[in-house]
Amino acid sequence: LETYFENSKRSYIDLNNGVNIPKQLIGNALKERVQSIDHETCEAGDEDTFFVADLGEVYRQHMRWKTNLPRVKPFYAVKCNPDPQVIRLLAKLGTGFDCASKAEIEQVLKAGVEPHRIIYAQPCKTNSYVRYAASQGVKQMTFDNTDELYKIKKLFPGAELFLRISTDDSSSLCRLSLKFGAAMDTTTDLLALAKELDLNVVGVSFHVGSGASDPLAFMNAVQDARTVFDQAETFGFNFHTLDVGGGFSSDTFDAMAAVLSSALDEYFPSNINVIGEPGRYYVACAFTLACHVIARRTIADEQSGAHSYMLYMNDGLYGNFSSIMFDHQNPVAQVLKTGERFYYDTMASQPTCDGIEYSIWGPTCDGIDRIAESIRFSHDLDVGDWLYFEEMGAYTKCSATRFNGFSDSHDVIYVASDPGAKAMLGMN
Ligand code: PLP
Repeated sequence: LETYFENSKRSYIDLNNGVNIPKQLIGNALKERVQSIDHETCEAGDEDTFFVADLGEVYRQHMRWKTNLPRVKPFYAVKCNPDPQVIRLLAKLGTGFDCASKAEIEQVLKAGVEPHRIIYAQPCKTNSYVRYAASQGVKQMTFDNTDELYKIKKLFPGAELFLRISTDDSSSLCRLSLKFGAAMDTTTDLLALAKELDLNVVGVSFHVGSGASDPLAFMNAVQDARTVFDQAETFGFNFHTLDVGGGFSSDTFDAMAAVLSSALDEYFPSNINVIGEPGRYYVACAFTLACHVIARRTIADEQSGAHSYMLYMNDGLYGNFSSIMFDHQNPVAQVLKTGERFYYDTMASQPTCDGIEYSIWGPTCDGIDRIAESIRFSHDLDVGDWLYFEEMGAYTKCSATRFNGFSDSHDVIYVASDPGAKAMLGMN
């Protein structure tokens, strides 16, 4: 068995017989689940959308991180996908966790993670959550403005603070520096106030934006962080940790990691700890979503005599496809099953250039609830058929709503395509 880090998407292959093990496991799990449903008689909800999560993919991404960024200790960004088995695996692998709220801190603590492995990485925090963090000994937290410093002075003066600086995140999918991060011309004033308040600032944090695509964003941010480390020294602080945030994607990781590593080596001596807050990188490719076609509307073109279809699925923009809205994603439908036949992982599952035209819609009453404006398949898809969508692990189920009374929590079937993950989790 060989693992290829360069292109880690489902790359765990048995070289002897050419089997792509992750694909095979995911396909079997999808098929087994769909076959277990009697579509004629099932109860409401039995044919609900569901995920298959490959924890082996999460495990391999961790190994890949350690290979490419050995200096940077990952603190998984829980907000991206607070799946309990993902948290459990990462906790066993020894990562830290980036939490944004009391509920996330609580979840991670309950998973047995020690408070020092948590950073409350939200620069504008709720008072009662700060008190909760203090009561649990979760000391590491970020700030980027004077009001937050007064808040922390009052509620948790013993906190270990990271000054979050803003970055040029213009190349990213989701810009965060519009909302958070101190401008570089404000950092000395913030450090001066922190000193005056006798607060313990221990480092700098930044985030280059989620889904970042320009490696130079990391280079520039590391340089700015160096400037703030030097400023801090003049105020008598002894900074020991740099937090390089998230923004990593599976596709661009190797290039990003190379630039980040060399920037770190150039600007930060080895006695400085470096942590990161990857979210998407760990989970995006690990989750596959299966959706059921609940209705179909035929659209006839009277002039040409041709027809296309509107397909309505049991999941949409207000559900697990919230990533279309909030995360600028474009999930691609593939055919899982039509009639009694399964097509997972064959050419016939793929959209085609010709074939029958479909638009794909979610189940709510809202017109924006559309997943695909136009997609073609060679199949005659109808009610009762199933579609699947890969790479649905990041910013999907965590931002699903109950709009129109649909469920916001769906079954997850776990598989592990890597013996390492299996052994750690005690899976068969
Ligand atoms: N850290 C912070 C403070 C964030 O706000 C986010 C995402 O919004 C992340 C980490 C995770 O980012 P990503 O999923 O791009 O790695």
